Amino acid sequence: MSGLDIPETVPVGDVAEFSDTVDVLVIGAGMGGCCAALEAARAGASVLVLERSAAAGGTSCMAGGHFYLGGGTAVQRATGHADDADEMAKYLTAVSRDPEPEKIAAYCADSVEHFDWLESLGFEFERSYYPAKAVIQPQTQGLMYTGNEQVWPYRELATPAPRGHKVPVPGDTGGAGLVIGLLVDRLTELGVQIRYETGGRQLIVDGDRVVGVQWRDASGRTGAIAAATVVIAAGGFVMNPEMVAEYTPQLASKPFTLGSTYDDGLGIRLGASVGAELKHMDQAFITAPVYPPSILLTGLVVNADGRRFVAEDSYHSRTSGFVMDQPGAKAFLIVDESHLERPEFPLCPFIDGWETIDEMADGLGIDRTTLQATMDRYNTYAARGEDPDFHKSPEYLAPQDTGPWAAFDMTLGKALYAGFTVGGMATTVDGQVQRPGGEVIEGLYAAGACAANIAQDGKGYASGTQLGEGSYFGRRAGRHAAAVAGHVATAVTTGE
Ligand SMILES: Cc1cc2nc3c(=O)[nH]c(=O)nc-3n(C[C@H](O)[C@H](O)[C@H](O)COP(=O)(O)OP(=O)(O)OC[C@H]3O[C@@H](n4cnc5c(N)ncnc54)[C@H](O)[C@@H]3O)c2cc1C
Repeated sequence: MSGLDIPETVPVGDVAEFSDTVDVLVIGAGMGGCCAALEAARAGASVLVLERSAAAGGTSCMAGGHFYLGGGTAVQRATGHADDADEMAKYLTAVSRDPEPEKIAAYCADSVEHFDWLESLGFEFERSYYPAKAVIQPQTQGLMYTGNEQVWPYRELATPAPRGHKVPVPGDTGGAGLVIGLLVDRLTELGVQIRYETGGRQLIVDGDRVVGVQWRDASGRTGAIAAATVVIAAGGFVMNPEMVAEYTPQLASKPFTLGSTYDDGLGIRLGASVGAELKHMDQAFITAPVYPPSILLTGLVVNADGRRFVAEDSYHSRTSGFVMDQPGAKAFLIVDESHLERPEFPLCPFIDGWETIDEMADGLGIDRTTLQATMDRYNTYAARGEDPDFHKSPEYLAPQDTGPWAAFDMTLGKALYAGFTVGGMATTVDGQVQRPGGEVIEGLYAAGACAANIAQDGKGYASGTQLGEGSYFGRRAGRHAAAVAGHVATAVTTGE
């Protein structure tokens, strides 16, 4: 069996018996699925969640806990950061490769409400701001910049504001797990069952309509559930080597992936089994941050030809995305002695130090004249606080003219890149899965990392958009699925 196999659909007439009948069946108890289930249950639908593993949370439980929210949240207001939905929408539009205006407008207009909804689950984002450049706030500060809002050209296209809201759990991982725990509590209060160690395996169809799911549990038992609507929220595909090789080969040479065991793309392939369009499948968040400390960003990043190719003060995954585009995905960060500090996370290995630029060029295998010219130009303008080539912010400009010089290896295969996939099923603003051309597949919804929404592009990724969109569009999918299920149920009882 290949990881690219598309599960066959099951005609409803072939199902002898259903183990359950529900309004809304959710596949996957991660951020997307739990939010969908909660909103569907609150709308009055009968809801069942299937979860393949023995616990809720999937990749969400590993996440640091950034939610990308804005437009004037309580944390933004309390920390003096003006923002509005229009500026947030302008930014998200600018960083999207194929912006979906209706989704971006809804996500931004509802962002404050969504922030309040998340807090109403039973926690509070700390009303504090972390001002330095970091991958994630080191403690529990509620807010920081987690994208390219201050980076050219975006700073000219939309008024910058920090929007990376961190769940108040110290450290790099586990923040979103707190939210998952609260979601499970709220689901339990409403009597929604999460059926663990039970995976959705095939979609049951009645003509073009999805009407249920075939499941298999850990002991090998199988069965079928009838559902008026099905929400697939089964995560991404970073753990499926065949799908990675097919769609995001840059992640194939990674030393480690970011995801849970069940990020094997089965949810996406279930969607494909009924004709779902798959979007942005070639895109991945991939990164090997060189900062903190941010002083390293005063250096130059050059490719194997000795040329710069990105503003070094970009958000780390934007820089990494551009590294992937360079010949051989090779790149080096160069700093002089007066700007050299040890990286907090040594993901990009220190290569060596050299007394002269010629020696460094030889050591890196770069043409001497080109590297010298690149450094001369950079240093000349940096001394004036300018960067005519990549418009790096003056804050991160400093001539690198005091030898010796050091270089760090940002090359794919040398640096410790990590990543996850962002592509998935095409959906409407309410999570309805679409065929190529936009036609909706009746009865089927998708949310979270198996759906294509706002996080579409490795270079444009802002930390927090995956959990942000998974929770927000998951809620919308749950509400819509509940409403449609109500209609389907009514149609059945009135014989429409
Ligand atoms: C270390 C790390 C840090 C991250 N930090 C952030 C961050 O701070 N902010 C951010 O926005 N994003 C972050 N991400 C990305 C983010 O965590 C994920 O994109 C997001 O959690 C996906 O949520 P989801 O609900 O789609 O999937 P998941 O949370 O993975 O949930 C999917 C669930 O479906 C289950 N499942 C799979 N297949 C089936 C099936 N066939 N039947 C039943 N169940 C099934 C899985 O077991 C899983 O529990 C991070 C990722 C990692 C790994």
